[in-house]
Amino acid sequence: MSTSSTTVFTVLRGGEFPVPALPPFGQFIGGAFVPSTSGSTVDVVNPATEEVIAQVPGGSVEDVDAAVAAAVAAKTDWAAKTPKDRSTVLLRIADIIEANRDVFETLEAANTGKPAAVTEDDISSAIDTFRFSAGATRAFTTLGADDYAENHTSVIFREPVGVVGVITPWNYPLLMAAWKIAPILGAGNTLVLKPSEQTPLTTLKLAELIASELPAGVLNIVTGPGRVVGNRLSEHPDVDLVAITGSVGSGQKVASSAASTVKRVHLELGGKAPVVVYDDADLEAAAKGVRSGGFWNGGQECGAACRVLVHESVAEKFTELLVREVSDISVGAPGAGDDVEIGSMISKAHYERVLAALDDVRKDGLTIAVGGNALEGPGYFIEPTVVTDVPAGAAIASTEIFGPVVSVETFSTDEEAITRANETIYGLAASVWTTNASRSLSVPRKLDFGTVWVNSHLVIANEVPWGGFKGSGYGRDLSIYALEDFSRTKHVMYKRD
Ligand code: NAD
Repeated sequence: MSTSSTTVFTVLRGGEFPVPALPPFGQFIGGAFVPSTSGSTVDVVNPATEEVIAQVPGGSVEDVDAAVAAAVAAKTDWAAKTPKDRSTVLLRIADIIEANRDVFETLEAANTGKPAAVTEDDISSAIDTFRFSAGATRAFTTLGADDYAENHTSVIFREPVGVVGVITPWNYPLLMAAWKIAPILGAGNTLVLKPSEQTPLTTLKLAELIASELPAGVLNIVTGPGRVVGNRLSEHPDVDLVAITGSVGSGQKVASSAASTVKRVHLELGGKAPVVVYDDADLEAAAKGVRSGGFWNGGQECGAACRVLVHESVAEKFTELLVREVSDISVGAPGAGDDVEIGSMISKAHYERVLAALDDVRKDGLTIAVGGNALEGPGYFIEPTVVTDVPAGAAIASTEIFGPVVSVETFSTDEEAITRANETIYGLAASVWTTNASRSLSVPRKLDFGTVWVNSHLVIANEVPWGGFKGSGYGRDLSIYALEDFSRTKHVMYKRD
């Protein structure tokens, strides 16, 4: 028999919420907003109110072709700039975002339903990404020239890849754009970026505010659906590399379209992060870690701490602590106050997907220890939820739900914990909770994930790489490795005599 908890949450509303400053209508191509050749438009919805707040062009193949032509025209001059000059531009962009922080936070909240804590973090992190890339661009070098064959001297040049196509998701609209734009420009490339059709506003706003800082064509934005705009970017013969952050299905389509021109592909895809809690763990810290790492951005986070594997001897105690933490989470609309921890789901379709997953949990006879229900509208709000007594292989523990839902499984041996944690198609992130020094050193090496935290979860810094293994894709965002991914090396060998 399944148990379903009673509702303990309400949606906090009210407070002053400023009218967001919308970007101009049009595609940003060659340094200006221009009309789309497509007559269609896409409604942009505030998911916390269900109101249409803007429209953007539906986008066309011709729009992408014009944007790529602009990026091609701009690439030689941009690539020829010194790292110092490119770095100066990135620092200016960071300053402009900082000076317009309120504009970006308000617009992001209106388009995503995020609470203030999340929008503030998103915008601060985007600023830091530009500042980090500005510094890293100047420190980015290759091996020194030397002799590796008799009478020959080798010089290794680092070059931009050329024109990069970028496709971003809806969960961190400006931040995911920043993660790509900063290293791509820093490494000397030009780009055409397609934001998620659901959340294009802050990316367009960025283009509006930084247009005068960049030569025309260096950065271009084309809005519209993935199957038209994203697909054209992936197959376009003049795009040298395509980078997508999105779901596994979209990543597969991009890689497949890119294959026709043998272009490089950079994939940051989904995740289902296991949180392995050993019997020697600080259980209170682990429960707090899941509260913050599992429910940040309403769980709409590829690295979310959404799948707990806890040692059977401490499972009851840990679950009690986790349920207490999660019961205390405040849900609310933007403007409802600084204490709000989670906002709405991004869209009606996504809200219905998460609720359908919770219905399946009930049908499977699992226990919903807290939450599990939709909250009263307007807006697509769902209660923070913990599902317990989850058996190995259950759908809730293997499918990416991307909502405020954490599942709890148990294990009995160290070996089982590692095997089960690795039993997922994803390989983005994981965490290990233990006070045992030996485990803290050995377990991360056995986990098949691009990031493993020990006694922490979802702490990200610009200096360290972010990216996955297996179904979570390949390629790295952040750090010097992102600059590496958006560059190519050329070896020139000189015969001396
Ligand atoms: P999505 O795959 O639906 O869309 C992502 C982008 O891909 C959108 O811009 C969309 O228009 C585009 N797209 C869709 N079909 C396409 C196609 N055929 N060709 C080209 N482009 C196409 O993902 P989403 O729902 O926007 O975002 C959520 C997903 O993103 C989750 O799976 C999440 O885990 C993942 N994500 C991963 C990371 C990471 O760093 N690994 C970060 C954020 C989000």
